[in-house]
Amino acid sequence: MLKQCLLPLAVTCIVFSGASNAFKLLGPSWENGSVTYDTSFPGATPAGQNWSSAMQQAANKWGDQVEGLNITFTDNGFHACAGYTGAFPEDGNQNASGFYTQACDEAFGTDVIAVTLSRSFGSFYVESDIVFNSNESWSVYDGTTQSALDFRRVAVHEFGHLIGLDHEETNSAIMAPFIGSIFNPTTDDLNGARDIYSPATGGGGNSGGGNSTPAIQISLEEPSSNQAANGVTNIRGWAVGISTIQRIELYVNGSYATNIPYGGDRADVGQRFPSYQNSSKSGFSMIFNWGNLPAGQHNMEVRAYDSAGRTESTSSNFTVHAFDTAFISDPSQVQILSSATVSGNNTITLNQVRAEGKNYKVVLRWNTATQKWDVAEID
Ligand SMILES: [Zn+2]
Repeated sequence: MLKQCLLPLAVTCIVFSGASNAFKLLGPSWENGSVTYDTSFPGATPAGQNWSSAMQQAANKWGDQVEGLNITFTDNGFHACAGYTGAFPEDGNQNASGFYTQACDEAFGTDVIAVTLSRSFGSFYVESDIVFNSNESWSVYDGTTQSALDFRRVAVHEFGHLIGLDHEETNSAIMAPFIGSIFNPTTDDLNGARDIYSPATGGGGNSGGGNSTPAIQISLEEPSSNQAANGVTNIRGWAVGISTIQRIELYVNGSYATNIPYGGDRADVGQRFPSYQNSSKSGFSMIFNWGNLPAGQHNMEVRAYDSAGRTESTSSNFTVHAFDTAFISDPSQVQILSSATVSGNNTITLNQVRAEGKNYKVVLRWNTATQKWDVAEID
């Protein structure tokens, strides 16, 4: 178990302006950026604000500004010390908070006003509780510190620990180890949180996440851009994500068509992107009858959705060449009536093909993506 403390000393933070990111991370994070928090502790400030609403405001100062971090609140009356002491039996990894005379199973240290108690498994948190020292006097306000402690800024600090931030002693930060005049997360604090939960857009800091790891990457390999499409063939590609990819949607000419089955073997993608979970099972594919689309230019888009609600897409334009009938079921209805012409080093032209009573010219060209001679034109 890890305990993070916030000290009430009247020491202001030492601030070096203009420094680069200096946030520090504890290591674990919430899987999929998803935190459910029970804010049901009773009571209110002398001025009438509920502790529970101040707690939600504090959490939202992170959740509202950090893409990929989703904090939801419940009101089930769980105790922050459940499972830590005999007085409160284990509650099944519920995240809760409250006032208590001690840091659950042991005394608050000297000058310690609040603690965050976290348990992780592997790289993910499984529970995190926040205990406020009930021996202190508390209120809720912004600005300069007063004799009663500002509950909300302490909650912002403890929530910073809860989502995975360590103390920050270099830059101006709510994650400074001592309470001071800062009552909101600073840019440095938010960069730290974004480094954990939204590495595609923020941070770029010291965890190795940064901009090199987009939250989702998706590739549409077939049809490739400007490919000539016809007949009954595959739509295929791959998608990887820092969170679990939940589904791949197919859009044809801007309209949703269907979901494409996902999870196929792609050892090559696994080797290329070892840091994404299950990247070796990242393939998607389905059979598609191009004959259902009229001849001419079309657009196909594939969209990946992950368990954290992110989405990423890619598309390709392609041309459908087809006989007038979408599917010719009788093989005797397709006949080659004249000899073929070979041109260049990879093109075969069937000058007269009869399909269901109509004559066409069909051009076959070698296609690297499909590794076969594909129909490149039907006129
Ligand atoms: Zn702290």
